[in-house]
Amino acid sequence: MLLEVRGLSKAFGGLHAVQDVDFDVPEGCVTAIIGPNGAGKSTLFNLLAGFYRPTAGTVTFDGKDITGMQPHQTVRDGIARTFQTTHLFDGASVLDNVRAACVVRSRSNALDAVLHTPRFRKDERRSLDRSMHELEFVGVAHLRDEIASTLPQEAQKRISIAQALATEPKLLLLDEPAAGTTDEETESFGTLIREIVARGVTVCLVEHKMSMVMNLADQIVVLDHGQRIAVGTPDDIKSNPQVIEAYLGT
Ligand code: ADP
Ligand code: MG
Repeated sequence: MLLEVRGLSKAFGGLHAVQDVDFDVPEGCVTAIIGPNGAGKSTLFNLLAGFYRPTAGTVTFDGKDITGMQPHQTVRDGIARTFQTTHLFDGASVLDNVRAACVVRSRSNALDAVLHTPRFRKDERRSLDRSMHELEFVGVAHLRDEIASTLPQEAQKRISIAQALATEPKLLLLDEPAAGTTDEETESFGTLIREIVARGVTVCLVEHKMSMVMNLADQIVVLDHGQRIAVGTPDDIKSNPQVIEAYLGT
């Protein structure tokens, strides 16, 4: 199992944003996390990627206990995420946004950078090649010199995915990749996610667009008020009365 989540909880004061959640993520699959607004989906991603420290529970990734680790550690272990609202560097080009993410795998240190050592120059070439490769993969290489934060939402979402892939993840957490995009764009994000899985990257997806979830997911975890109310295949979930009441019926 690539990811094992057990009894995971996060309280903000008296609010139980995530409460005693259990699930497993098998390697090579798409796991969708669904649930109404405020169900705890983004908080769950923040717990997995180390942006929040859990109040209780454990996260085991690739056989290693990563509970309470910081984002810079989880990203090195191979967990990358995108955010519900994109977080690109203001004023920086598309290419530089992705190059910055390559630092995670760089082998040179600050002294190498100051002295321009061969190790530093090799890292720079590697980052450039990798960034261009990822920008081509997500379909925005032609925008490499544009200022990322001024581009349309759809392009920014693709750049964020390129950034995440540039860290060479084993697990990619996508928080609402298709939110605010047209049906046609949603379709092409679906295709991109399939291509990411075909590369061998396991995907966890938070998404409200049910057509996308039902088409892509091997497994669905349903949250409501911070609790896991169901887990199963898309067919299991579609016919689960509790899910229909909490979510699909609304
Ligand atoms: P979802 O992504 O499913 O819409 P969130 O995980 O964003 O839900 O939020 C779950 C609950 O936790 C909400 O009630 C939200 O207001 C609360 N919450 C999320 N982040 C914080 C925070 N940093 N501080 C306080 N409350 C938070
Ligand atoms: Mg959210």
